Amino acid sequence: MSFDEIAPRNFSFNSPYGACEQCTGLGFHTVIDPKLVIPDMDLSLDEGALAPFANTSSAYFPAIYRGLEKKFKIGTSTPIRKLTKQQIDILLNGTNERIPISFTDRRGYRRSYNAMWNGAIGILDRRSKETTSQYIRDEVARYQSAQPCAACGGMRLKPESLAVTLDVANDEGVIAPMHISAMAGLSVARFEGILDRIILTEREGMIARQILKELRSRSGFLNAVGLTYLTLDRAAGTLAGGEAQRIRLATQIGSGLMGVVYILDEPSIGLHQRDNRRLIDTLTELRDLGNTILIVEHDEETMRAADHIIDIGPGAASTVARSWLRVRSRTLSHQRSPQPALTFPGGARSRFLSAAASRKPDRSR
Ligand SMILES: [Zn+2]
Repeated sequence: MSFDEIAPRNFSFNSPYGACEQCTGLGFHTVIDPKLVIPDMDLSLDEGALAPFANTSSAYFPAIYRGLEKKFKIGTSTPIRKLTKQQIDILLNGTNERIPISFTDRRGYRRSYNAMWNGAIGILDRRSKETTSQYIRDEVARYQSAQPCAACGGMRLKPESLAVTLDVANDEGVIAPMHISAMAGLSVARFEGILDRIILTEREGMIARQILKELRSRSGFLNAVGLTYLTLDRAAGTLAGGEAQRIRLATQIGSGLMGVVYILDEPSIGLHQRDNRRLIDTLTELRDLGNTILIVEHDEETMRAADHIIDIGPGAASTVARSWLRVRSRTLSHQRSPQPALTFPGGARSRFLSAAASRKPDRSR
């Protein structure tokens, strides 16, 4: 066995050089799922046990069911549960034998012939492969489910790529090889820990220095927004709204942009007290880079960290516009006040904060 010189593209499932050839780098196959095709084993064919064809008005399916009954003794009024494994297999995957059918078609013609039966799965498979209609593809997708790719075990890369490993020392100091997909399966917290335990020669250390620095700062950003529990290979679509917002935030801090206005809607939701402090530090950092941050927030700690507070509440509405302009002019002239500069006397928030200031902070809430 031989392979070309190793390059970064060998470790990307988005590149044909790295992607598993069986699943093209997806890590799974979408297949027609028998459990979705026959969701209720207590139904018979007559009662619509084959879900994809249950609501069709075509005379073809009742006719082929009668043909299957004649040929394989698959009772059309027998619950699927009572059929033999072989009979169920014929329903799902078809048979090479011809099925005699006869029925009256939509135009009223009597038709009799020997039909092919490719099985429910075969029919759906062909529909999805042959159609150009998104509607039909979506219809078939209702009976598909994702199965982990057997070739790569869901790790999305070619065996050659997964054969490339780094030596990593574990807690007990035992050194074990680790490939990139195993690392991607770690949480951010564990990944951060491992960065210091990769065994490198002096020369390798020099080459890797900049890369490790980047990895540390990126996992540091995710740490800063309280997301260390996420695994690196977590699919974006499975993130909660707040998590996605904080990941975008982490990316933004990393990009080091200035002169940007960030508008955040309750970023503290779902955060622990400790992570909340980190988030505030992160936002302060963003501000100090030269950005403006507008936050809609009810969290006291965040409010106290703000340079300005605009309190919109009952009784405050009439003065909002005027005072907003005042806040803006302050910000533009770079005057920062150490305390929340502006509260509306009538607003609930200002009453809350002044009441909170006059008593001991109570963290047990
Ligand atoms: Zn695969």
